Amino acid sequence: MIKILFLSFLFLFSFAKDGVQTYGEVKDGELFVYITNNNLFDITYKYIATYDELYPMQPLPIEKSLEGNTTTLLSKFMILGKQYKLTNSYVWTLGNTNSIHNDNYFYRLPYALGETHLVTQGFHGAFSHSGDSEYAVDFGMEVGTKIYASRGGLVVMTKNDGYKSGPYRGFAEDANHITIKHDDGTYGKYVHLKQNGVAVKVGDIVQRGDFIGYSGNTGFTNGPHLHFVVFKGKDTKSRTSIPIKFIAKSGFVINPIVGNRYTAVK
Ligand SMILES: [Zn+2]
Repeated sequence: MIKILFLSFLFLFSFAKDGVQTYGEVKDGELFVYITNNNLFDITYKYIATYDELYPMQPLPIEKSLEGNTTTLLSKFMILGKQYKLTNSYVWTLGNTNSIHNDNYFYRLPYALGETHLVTQGFHGAFSHSGDSEYAVDFGMEVGTKIYASRGGLVVMTKNDGYKSGPYRGFAEDANHITIKHDDGTYGKYVHLKQNGVAVKVGDIVQRGDFIGYSGNTGFTNGPHLHFVVFKGKDTKSRTSIPIKFIAKSGFVINPIVGNRYTAVK
């Protein structure tokens, strides 16, 4: 997302529909620019400024992560003349580059206890598990299968109204999903849920094993399944997925193998 804010004179704001906004304030001959992230999730942003009659007090552009529900000083400029002008623009993406995944955590399989599902695509899967989905896992299951949280946390994003699907990246935005922030600042994402199949809302705190929604076949998909991935911020444009471990009836699963079936246990 790119947002542009034009600032001049005393006290100006930008209101952003995406939950991120900047505003400026003049104090003692200096212009202070703040950034607010009103989302529950962390973001990683890149801030670029063009200006006249101002002198930046820090190197630009700035690339940083910002926690959810937080305001911070973004940049500071010395005002050199009365006709000063500042144009801010920024891009951001969900995720914090400073988060460190708890690699000792064993995830619960995201379906009902005692149920068994087939892994249809594992880590590095050729169909779509590359880039920021490198360590995603697909579990084949009928549309409407109950989904349970693999790990507890805060629900920070959902999409519930998608209904299109197809085996092309162009359908990716149509996928319904739930994104949960874990206590180590990483995120678990449950994707391809059926239309109106999301049973939680942004702001809910869910525990490991809580029912959260129904699987489906929405978005970039070639058949009904659940896509599950854990990620953190990588840079201002992308995220990095994390190799995770599961606990199954057969024991610990370090690398879910395509064609294997795994039974959910607590
Ligand atoms: Zn997948």
